[in-house]
Amino acid sequence: MPFPIKVCVVCGEEFELRPGKPGFANRCPSCSEPEQDDGLSSDTFGSDPEAAAARRRAMRDLLYRKDS
Ligand SMILES: [Zn+2]
Repeated sequence: MPFPIKVCVVCGEEFELRPGKPGFANRCPSCSEPEQDDGLSSDTFGSDPEAAAARRRAMRDLLYRKDS
């Protein structure tokens, strides 16, 4: 059974509007996906993942110290 063809409002690509497609009905699957962002890292700590990880470790150590 053919699915209706829609035009994505974001990128202009045609896509099949499948039943149960996640996201918006007027966006293609790739434009429907939320921006992938692994946690708080990139925005908060800039683009250096090692610095972000080190910062997170330091903060966690601080929290543990406070608790115990
Ligand atoms: Zn799109």
